[in-house]
Amino acid sequence: MSVALTLSEPRQRTKPPRHLADLSLTDCQQILTDMGQPAFRAKQIRRQYYARHVTDAISMTDLPADARDSIGEALLPQLLAPVKVDSCDNGETVKAAWRLYDNALVESVIMSYPDRVTACISSQAGCGMACPFCATGQAGLTRNLSTAEIVDQVVHAAKISEERGLGRLSHIVFMGMGEPLANWARLKKALRIITAPNPEGIGLSARHVTVSTVGLVPAIRKLAEEDLPVTLAISLHAPDDELRDELVPINNRWKVSEVLEAAWDYAAKTKRRVSIEYAMIRDMNDQPWRADLLARKLAGKLAHVNLIPLNPTPGSKWDASPAPVQDEFVARLRAGGVPTTVRDTRGQEIDGACGQLAAAVEQDQRQDAAN
Ligand code: SAH
Repeated sequence: MSVALTLSEPRQRTKPPRHLADLSLTDCQQILTDMGQPAFRAKQIRRQYYARHVTDAISMTDLPADARDSIGEALLPQLLAPVKVDSCDNGETVKAAWRLYDNALVESVIMSYPDRVTACISSQAGCGMACPFCATGQAGLTRNLSTAEIVDQVVHAAKISEERGLGRLSHIVFMGMGEPLANWARLKKALRIITAPNPEGIGLSARHVTVSTVGLVPAIRKLAEEDLPVTLAISLHAPDDELRDELVPINNRWKVSEVLEAAWDYAAKTKRRVSIEYAMIRDMNDQPWRADLLARKLAGKLAHVNLIPLNPTPGSKWDASPAPVQDEFVARLRAGGVPTTVRDTRGQEIDGACGQLAAAVEQDQRQDAAN
């Protein structure tokens, strides 16, 4: 009887199942030879996964049919179970919601443009940074994603993009759920894999990878030491500490001046232009004087501003700035010598736009549970 009881209990894991994206080539070779497989299969499997975006061993037709199950179990367990895949913008924006081994949920968004395909990737389930205008921030942090859970989102994005005829994945932005620099050790490994040439990695150019952060200064400095010229995006949202303390609460720890200093050091080290993210929130941070102050802080620096019209989140008291206010803000930044672009608002209909990720899926889940 006790056996039956034990079997009926769900198996508790403390970590996601072992996956090749968490392992070195040598580790994979060792695991395969321990299973009685030739070591060369490690490269074969890694090439299929990283370069051809085959995510399960069953579909790897160059593996012997009778070995695919056991190899899959050992090195390619399913890390991301699709909950929902939605598209909008004529199929050019796709949002995928994934359930992880422990039922945590994360989302990725794929956006196809004439000259590029960009995937917006999550680095954590939830987020601990508590920015009051962001849906993910409201729910708090569930946990860090593993390196393989991050990498697997990228591989799936590449696969979905190819299957849907959207083109080859070319760009990655860590602007999904979570604060990437709060998951530094795992993010670092994921960045290495994303930018390593095939077949050891996914083979994207580091210049096409953007890490967006609230401004965790010590981690920005660590990123600079990595010699990986990824683009750094700083979620500034206010040029003054008084307002930024409220909009981006980590500002109570690292002030605007410290964050910008770390950003300029990053730019000097990598020669990469830093992107300053600024969500335009009506009557909060959109005053002309704040545009002028921001321009003064950024003029002459290797930086450009990316304005994001606020996507109001459910229950939020805040709204996007009216178009004339936004236009005035842009004009003042440009007049102050700061290159400025306005972010398109892809994916709104499918809750796939900035700051919307997660809330809708959680809500659906609660409804499912109630039914
Ligand atoms: N934690 C990282 C990545 C988060 S999301 C960071 O903060 O940078 C990427 C961007 O979307 C950030 O600039 C974030 O502030 C912004 N964002 C969050 N909620 C938003 C909303 N409701 N409308 C517009 N932008 C939002």
